[in-house]
Amino acid sequence: MQKSEIKTTCSYCGVGCGIIVTNDPKNGVSVKGDVNHPVNKGMLCSKGMNLHYVVNDTSDRILYPEMRWSKSHPKERVSWDTALDRAAAVFSSIIKKHGPDSVGFYISGQCLTEEYYLVNKLVKGFLKTNNIDTNSRLCMSSAVAGYKKTFGEDSVPIAYDDIELADTFLITGANPAWCHPILFRRIEQHKEKNSKVKIIVIDPRRTDSAIAADLHLQIVPGTDIILYHALGKRLIEKGYADNDFIKNHTENFNLYKDLVMSSSLEKASKLCGISVNDIKLAADMIGKAKGFLSLWAMGLNQSAIGVDKNTALLNLSLLTGHVGKPGSGPFSLTGQPNAMGGREVGGMANLLAVHKELNNPVHRKEVADFWGIEDEISEKPGLTATEMFDALESGKMKAIWIICTNPLVSLPDSRRVEKALANAKFVVVQDISHNADTSKFADLLLPAAGWLEKEGTMTNSERRISYLPKGINAPGEALSDVEILTRFAKKMNFSGFNFNTPEDVYKEYCLMTKNTTIDISFLNYNRLKNEGTFQWPVPDYGHPGTPRLFADKKFYTPSQKAIFNIPTAIENTSEQPNNQFPYILTTGRIRDQWHTMTKTGKVSRLMTHIPSPVLEINPIDAYKASINNGNIVVVTSKNGTVRVKAKVSDTIREGVLFLPMHWGKQLENDLNRTNNLTNTLVDPVSKEPDFKYTTVSVSKYVKP
Ligand code: SF4
Repeated sequence: MQKSEIKTTCSYCGVGCGIIVTNDPKNGVSVKGDVNHPVNKGMLCSKGMNLHYVVNDTSDRILYPEMRWSKSHPKERVSWDTALDRAAAVFSSIIKKHGPDSVGFYISGQCLTEEYYLVNKLVKGFLKTNNIDTNSRLCMSSAVAGYKKTFGEDSVPIAYDDIELADTFLITGANPAWCHPILFRRIEQHKEKNSKVKIIVIDPRRTDSAIAADLHLQIVPGTDIILYHALGKRLIEKGYADNDFIKNHTENFNLYKDLVMSSSLEKASKLCGISVNDIKLAADMIGKAKGFLSLWAMGLNQSAIGVDKNTALLNLSLLTGHVGKPGSGPFSLTGQPNAMGGREVGGMANLLAVHKELNNPVHRKEVADFWGIEDEISEKPGLTATEMFDALESGKMKAIWIICTNPLVSLPDSRRVEKALANAKFVVVQDISHNADTSKFADLLLPAAGWLEKEGTMTNSERRISYLPKGINAPGEALSDVEILTRFAKKMNFSGFNFNTPEDVYKEYCLMTKNTTIDISFLNYNRLKNEGTFQWPVPDYGHPGTPRLFADKKFYTPSQKAIFNIPTAIENTSEQPNNQFPYILTTGRIRDQWHTMTKTGKVSRLMTHIPSPVLEINPIDAYKASINNGNIVVVTSKNGTVRVKAKVSDTIREGVLFLPMHWGKQLENDLNRTNNLTNTLVDPVSKEPDFKYTTVSVSKYVKP
């Protein structure tokens, strides 16, 4: 075999960097940044540049299907036919006995668009349940709901090229310097060349993003909306509102104006823990901006009031008219490589493909007709991520099929997830490696092909669709997810799954987008292979794609106007600190790890940055609790305990603690699993968990 080179896309975060992969039969796979790629222009972050280690090391891979005939039996190797016959038999029997809603699928923002589309068709169209949700529920569902409420549909309006056209960046609830490094590098490079560029960061922690900022507003967790309203008030008072835009292209402004004008900068200053002067400074920077980009991620989304936080932030873009023009707009940062693709194909319990709504009977019929289904798609909303595990625990749901995600480590309140999985009658885990802690609960373990071992498409945070070619064969008997799902559908005797390749699936999906807001009906694998990436919509053969939405100021609402939303909750509805649990724990990512470390955890270079989880604690809090830097501490919430080293640092606010989210059982026990602690509250609309606000206590660990 000859040395070969292919172009593909990084499989980690939603930035979607272009990668050139060299496959050398002697030395294995190596990677480098694609200098011609519009996203990263040759740059890669630490995770991307070490991606080849994950591919070359197959020692942890699941090589063939493994199954246990009963809970008391060990798993044994079986053939694909035996595995999928049994999956079909068990799912059919459970559905027959307990109804379609007794089963569910829990999938991932790392699935390719074809896989996402196919499994949604299978579950919503043919298994007749809407119990299919994705781990994107944990990161982007509040942003989806916020966009829908403001613009009428889930629509990220910007392009990354707006970075170089903007002069003011408001980064709030995000640390792109670590979590979206290549985008942050583009912002830094732009600032290096242009002294007028200003960066404002809102974060309870002094992160690397905050250190690079002109102004860091180190707020009390949960007070974001209060701050945004104070900014809104100041912008109106100083005459920075874009009155033409507001009058001609928005609704509800007077209600919004009444609300923010009744707020007080002094009160906001007290509640948010930042000075009035800094609020004024931030408002003046935003008000004077020629191009204003607001960037946010989990700090807003993962909250019991995540949707309100999103709409309150979006209101600032409407107020200043910074939507649909170069260098301006709201810019949600997607955590996973294909969270956006999943949204397009309706990959959530409450959605249907091509931005159609499950609660709309016309939409349900359109989708059913397209799929050739005689009876209707169920109108009953499916269970969301956390709800599915509640239903497993209570016994309402009997079986779950988990694809490419590790809920035992990533969902809130891990002990509850453990109980739910132990209580399930039948658990299928379809994944690439044995590293996911969840797999120990599998009754059926299915080996899936990983990145580079299958073809398909993904969409990044700026709606850019990339084609990912297959470069190498999967080890052992691993199959692509499309093939596994198609074979299962055939075992179930479902029609409509005569797909021989992912391209067949993509063709069907592209056809479905015709005349919708994400129209890519003129896109196909050939164009993606030959012409490169495209931002949707691509509504014509010669169309180059659409970098920026709403250039015509026509939004997707019935009136074609954007909506100022009034939050139902302004103050945080999370459980508040008390005598027993006096600290607020916030969780998040570190620079060199990805999700639950099933991939990055096996790359020794990536383990050198932060080799084990540490609790960040402010020196004043540490002093009060007699904790020194490096001490082992016990963190306790009402749900559980974590035991980790303390890192005493003034980068975090007094009263707030931080733990990285990544570790599961990689260390000696599961006492470093952060989600042992996290609470089970979710946003009432988006159902996204409240990861950023759990009340805890902390003390020095004393050996028993
Ligand atoms: Fe991959 Fe994201 Fe890093 Fe780019 S920024 S190389 S997409 S992990």
